[in-house]
Amino acid sequence: MRVELQSHLDRAGFYRALAELLAQGIAWDRVEWRISPSPTDPPVEDTVAPTLKRLPVGFRDTMHLALLHREPARHVLLHRIAQRLWREPRGWQDSLHEDHIWLMEWHRQVRRDMHKTKAFVRFNRVGEFDQDAERAEYVAWFEPVHHTLVEVAPFFVRRFTQMRWSILSPSATVRWDGQRLRVGPGANRIDAPPPDAGEALWLTYYARIFNPARVKISAMKKEMPEIYWKNLPEARLIPILLAQAPQRVGQMIASAADTQRRLPDLKHQSKVSDPAGSLASISTAVQNCDQCACAARATQAVMGMGPATAKLFIVGEQPGDQEDVTGQPFVGPSGQLLRVALLEIGIDMARVYVTNAVKHFSYEMRGKRRIHKTPAQADVKRCAPWLEAELQAVRPSTIIVLGRTALRSIESLVEFEPPTPTPHAMVGPPPSPRGIIDRGRWRGAQVVAVAHPAALLRAGALPATEGYQRWREDLRRAICGAPV
Ligand code: URA
Repeated sequence: MRVELQSHLDRAGFYRALAELLAQGIAWDRVEWRISPSPTDPPVEDTVAPTLKRLPVGFRDTMHLALLHREPARHVLLHRIAQRLWREPRGWQDSLHEDHIWLMEWHRQVRRDMHKTKAFVRFNRVGEFDQDAERAEYVAWFEPVHHTLVEVAPFFVRRFTQMRWSILSPSATVRWDGQRLRVGPGANRIDAPPPDAGEALWLTYYARIFNPARVKISAMKKEMPEIYWKNLPEARLIPILLAQAPQRVGQMIASAADTQRRLPDLKHQSKVSDPAGSLASISTAVQNCDQCACAARATQAVMGMGPATAKLFIVGEQPGDQEDVTGQPFVGPSGQLLRVALLEIGIDMARVYVTNAVKHFSYEMRGKRRIHKTPAQADVKRCAPWLEAELQAVRPSTIIVLGRTALRSIESLVEFEPPTPTPHAMVGPPPSPRGIIDRGRWRGAQVVAVAHPAALLRAGALPATEGYQRWREDLRRAICGAPV
């Protein structure tokens, strides 16, 4: 007997046929399962046929994922197990049965593939990088090992609700238009757009965070199995980075020692006996703060992050969309740019305390998107005591202020120096964003304000550009006091 399923993802068709076969007592070895040569669009949802409810629930759940395994014999094996359990449901307890062992292994492999799909999908923006975000669309090409894409699509809907995106794969395509998830037939790699500026930024970021002093190839391959490398732009960098590792380790040792030497240590002046404990209590208070209008609309407050012993303290404006969701400062595009610049300067971000002037995400809705909105002056003022408390707890020796909002927040605490012309100002009108904005002191620590990385992103200044390099030099001078 032949049963034809509409596609690899046609679980509903499999359940219907299985229910019939079991009801009619047709043995598993008399059935040939085929996948239609002209597959139809897979359904977004497919539930187990009601008659199959007689099968143990544990089996039904396991089967539901195991059906996504790429093994062509999966339908036969599942029919064979179902036939045995139909007669004797308690057979499900026999976890040493050979079929059971296969089934559990497939289930494990599918789950792992789902996990990797969530981690390794990389979107490219269609159109210009600085085009109106409202019209932007993101597309990813991904080849899961099993037929898992549709199963993990709801994860991407939750994660990127505000964006319009598509993920193309050989056996299915999923598309989210901001309202509805649509599932379509498989696609080809050439249907995916070429790499965008975001990918260039990501590759630079990846190359910079690759720590040549901590190369553990087997651990890396376990986390990032080679079978997925063909979909990962950063995988192209791995052989090059490994080859450069020994030389970079030497440079890192020299540069780190030099940079640390340049940062004075003010710790002995600190009045706070337990700065880590004090940061923890500030964090609890910040989470409960509802003084400004944005608190009620944000997902959570985003407290500063970093060691209480940090000498370098960086203040940004406010958490962005990604920071609001993850609860961590500087993890979105501006944060990535900042991290790249710090690494290039020779600063390990793990040793820096980073925070924001305002702790809740302030935004306005445009359609379904949350668009950054500069915080109101009154909210900046209301949040300023938290920033001051963080400064007191950390007592850094260098405070970098990113952009005008952060500067407004801290200005009442700082004694400013009279403005001096920056090297850029001296050679004529620089392109925006520009130079060191202001300099001053707070309790012995030097305070330097430079442009916010978001201003660079708005101006299209990605790492390869001159605008970025100028800004990184400003940051380097701000941190190290002089060109290094
Ligand atoms: N911009 C900021 O100022 N802070 C963040 O945490 C992220 C983006």
